[in-house]
Amino acid sequence: MQQRLSFACTQCGRCCQNHRVPLTVHEAMAWLRRGGDVHLLCDAVVWPAEPPADDAFAAYKRQRSFAAASAVMAVRVGVILAASFPGRCPNLMDDNRCGIYAERPLVCRIYPASINPFEPLGAESKACPPEAWDARGPAFVRAGQLVDHATQPLIDQARHLAVQEMPAKQRLCDALGIRVAAMANEGFVVHKPPRAALLAALEESSAAMACATAMAPAQDPPGDWRLLSPRATTLEILAEIHADALDASQAGRLGVEYLDLQPQPASAAG
Ligand code: SF4
Ligand code: SF4
Repeated sequence: MQQRLSFACTQCGRCCQNHRVPLTVHEAMAWLRRGGDVHLLCDAVVWPAEPPADDAFAAYKRQRSFAAASAVMAVRVGVILAASFPGRCPNLMDDNRCGIYAERPLVCRIYPASINPFEPLGAESKACPPEAWDARGPAFVRAGQLVDHATQPLIDQARHLAVQEMPAKQRLCDALGIRVAAMANEGFVVHKPPRAALLAALEESSAAMACATAMAPAQDPPGDWRLLSPRATTLEILAEIHADALDASQAGRLGVEYLDLQPQPASAAG
């Protein structure tokens, strides 16, 4: 993590191109109503037992997932609602300004900071050009801590919603029959439900979010999640623990897309 950073947005528009934009439930509904596309990115982690209470990363993961099962194996499933667009964001205007600036999603307001507290705060992984990080710009990070006081409350809000919305996302998966996930840190399974069906399911989940009893977690987590991986070693491990696993090359047959976070280099010909 960088200890000292300054930052001033150059309005280059690079962060608004070739990205998936994570959305809250209400942002996803607004995005769909504007005619955009929203996909569900699902991943899962095997969860045979509760980790120690002082495992901060496991606690973070647990809060942002719901209990489920893959055959006999307990897992936790994470779901990201993401605006998806090839190339430029449909809201990006010709002069690189945001066409929905007042209503833009939280992650757009937070960038180049991150919601994930385990993600290093640095310039390397961001789309911003070098001049945006000019040391003469406004203070962004000091002593390894974010000091942009306008952004920190937005990060807190996004983190709070990510936890609060998990029951709604579980309900969404139930309503849409979504039961396929990638292994966490390897990739995501991308589900692309029809826009009208997704909007209707979001509206129903959103309405139920206000009702604590309607959103109570299921007593018996659904046991029919299928886990995809492109890696032979991962598939072997999943077979040994009797999870329901399948090679990621079969994603198309299941009507989903596999997004590999660590694509393996093609083997040399000959
Ligand atoms: S909504 Fe606006 S800020 Fe967010 S990616 Fe699109 S153009 Fe950029
Ligand atoms: S990539 Fe960085 S500098 Fe460019 S518009 Fe986005 S936040 Fe601003």
